[in-house]
Amino acid sequence: MVFRPPLREFQTVFPDDAACAKYLESVRWPHGFICPKCNTQSQPYRFPSRSSVVLRCRQCKSNASLTAGTVMQATHTPLSVWFWGAYLVTTQTPGQSALQFQRQLGLSRYETAFQILHKLRAGMVRPERDGIGGQYPVEVDECIMGGPTHGEKHWINSKVRVIGAVEVRQREQSEAIAAKFQHHPGGVPIKKLVYAGRLRLRVMDIRGEGSAYTNFVAENIAKGAKVKTAGAQVYRRIKALGYTHEPLELYGDPQKAQRHLPMIHLVFSNLKTWVLGTHHGAIGPQHLQAYLNEYVFRFNRRFYPMTAFDSVLGLAARSASPTYAALYSGEWEHPGL
Ligand SMILES: [Zn+2]
Repeated sequence: MVFRPPLREFQTVFPDDAACAKYLESVRWPHGFICPKCNTQSQPYRFPSRSSVVLRCRQCKSNASLTAGTVMQATHTPLSVWFWGAYLVTTQTPGQSALQFQRQLGLSRYETAFQILHKLRAGMVRPERDGIGGQYPVEVDECIMGGPTHGEKHWINSKVRVIGAVEVRQREQSEAIAAKFQHHPGGVPIKKLVYAGRLRLRVMDIRGEGSAYTNFVAENIAKGAKVKTAGAQVYRRIKALGYTHEPLELYGDPQKAQRHLPMIHLVFSNLKTWVLGTHHGAIGPQHLQAYLNEYVFRFNRRFYPMTAFDSVLGLAARSASPTYAALYSGEWEHPGL
């Protein structure tokens, strides 16, 4: 079974519980069933019920659960509901309520929807530890979120400082494309030749000090990376940490900022639109980091929806072998590297 993101064919690929079970089996045993108890590799006995999540070893007769170690473990909710839920949280606008979720999944009980949503979203808020920017330059800047907007309601009651870092990736053969269009006045705008790679966001104390900025850089960006920032004093120690630092004094000039840090400013702009549009600003400052993590999770996997899908179901973390989606996307990294 090979998946081809995007997930337009989701319902064709997973029409029923049996199809979901088959996927779980192929992820856990990509080279065929191996009994967890006696290590025999053979065709297992499959129970006739289409909703069964149990395979039985023909050798030692012990049962192996397809959902062991996943978020679906020991629940009575059908696999197809979990799969559809994972599809919704990884492809649709985040922050939807459990009530909306309940309606979309066609569940009779609100509590079931709430628990499923909670478990799936827990897989989206784990901090990601590896540093970004190993192969690409990184833009770092901060923005203020919250406080009164346009004299209307307060979307986040108090002002919050958010610092972000984003990789700036070059499109393949972009120089060739640029050369092709440079004869056309008003041709391809430069911003289309680069695109955002991976992202990191962190809520900072509104009275953030220099150490908070340098800690953010050290904990999120790979050593040796090229880091572009404003010329502020708070970034002055970056070079000493082993980065190639490109500060530029912006003097609050938006045009200068736009030229020096276009990508992170675009990220902040989209982030604010999302918070306002999806949540109507109703995020308590204490919850903002969790929402930022979810935003980052989705952002960093936007080209690999099946990786996100496997992650929220707990499939990627369970197995030491790559899932089909990870293999497909080329995102699989060997443990410990
Ligand atoms: Zn066995």
